[in-house]
Amino acid sequence: MSQCRIWIGTSWKMNKTVSEGAEYVEYFMKSLRAPRHVQTFLVLPFTHLERVKGMLRDSGILLGAQNMHPAEDGEFTGEISAKMLRDIGVDLVEIGHSERRRYFNEDDFTVNAKVRTAVSHGLIPLVCVGEKASDREFGVTREVITCQLKIALHSIELSENSRFLIAYEPVWAIGRCGTPARPAQAGEIHTLIREILNGMYGPKVARRVRILYGGSVNGGNAVDLLAQRNVDGLFVGRAGLDPSEFLDLVEKAGEG
Ligand code: PEP
Repeated sequence: MSQCRIWIGTSWKMNKTVSEGAEYVEYFMKSLRAPRHVQTFLVLPFTHLERVKGMLRDSGILLGAQNMHPAEDGEFTGEISAKMLRDIGVDLVEIGHSERRRYFNEDDFTVNAKVRTAVSHGLIPLVCVGEKASDREFGVTREVITCQLKIALHSIELSENSRFLIAYEPVWAIGRCGTPARPAQAGEIHTLIREILNGMYGPKVARRVRILYGGSVNGGNAVDLLAQRNVDGLFVGRAGLDPSEFLDLVEKAGEG
């Protein structure tokens, strides 16, 4: 995997049957004209992973899961382990999305445990961090992001060869009721994240970590968001559910 300049991926969340997913992937692969400096990835429900891995083969498109359990294996009914994901060739795993934090009580310490396991199995972590509207209102956005990030990365060793993704996803920007962050707002927090990484790992390693923005990204705001310093890519929800809308976004972002 090359350290591409721009990373653009989408999560389908809990949407699409396996056959709908396969139809999407077939169309997406056939039509994708991503420039070489754009790395695309799809983060899919567990039920899709094996089939889609078979379809993606040498396409260069990376495959991600939306969650995993931090334990190696054992009595955790209903859960999926890192080993199981690697076994079917999954490349990356999303950890700490705000919906997991909100509906499944995941906290920063759970996120750290999952990051450790993911790294030890060679999965690329895609760690989501983001403040709530109330955090911003009370003026503690920077503190919240710092805390989430430092705990997520606690005891995680990274080197210049590490593959690691962070998504800055302000909770108030996500989903149907979300308002996208203004490019400058995203840029400010991305720069904060890079500074924290610089402090923890030094600039050579810090600049290898890709920092993606997520939250109501669409074809209309993608280029402006990517123009911000330290915005290395985009993580897309709703605008990635339709393959032609997502393709359009990837192409615009690649040209921008
Ligand atoms: C998300 O939930 O990670 C996300 C980016 O969603 P949306 O683009 O729909 O706001």
